[in-house]
Amino acid sequence: MTSPNISVIKCHKCRSVLLDMSTVTNNYTTCDQQKCNSYNLSNFIFVSEDNLPDWIRRKVETEQWTKGRLNCEKCGCRVGVFDYVSGRKCDCGETVLPPVRFVASQVDRPIAVNISHKSL
Ligand SMILES: [Zn+2]
Ligand SMILES: [Zn+2]
Repeated sequence: MTSPNISVIKCHKCRSVLLDMSTVTNNYTTCDQQKCNSYNLSNFIFVSEDNLPDWIRRKVETEQWTKGRLNCEKCGCRVGVFDYVSGRKCDCGETVLPPVRFVASQVDRPIAVNISHKSL
């Protein structure tokens, strides 16, 4: 039995583990929501550049640190993107975002507040 306490992000479709929550960063500047509505940042999960999991690093290296998609290695489902070309800046031009991000709706992430969730 796997421990429910392990904080991992999984593919929404096939539930294979994509990354550890320890590689997720909250260390980025968010846009001033008054000025910018380009990104709803809560729709994305940003991965720390210093801490990229091997499979992401390999993909980024394959694309020579430009940009591309991150697909689940198991089911091929698109789970995120990386963009070292233009993605570092938000459309508003003010905020620098981490280049590697997962789309929140494509992945399952641990819900920290929902620990009393009833098991089936
Ligand atoms: Zn998958
Ligand atoms: Zn912005």
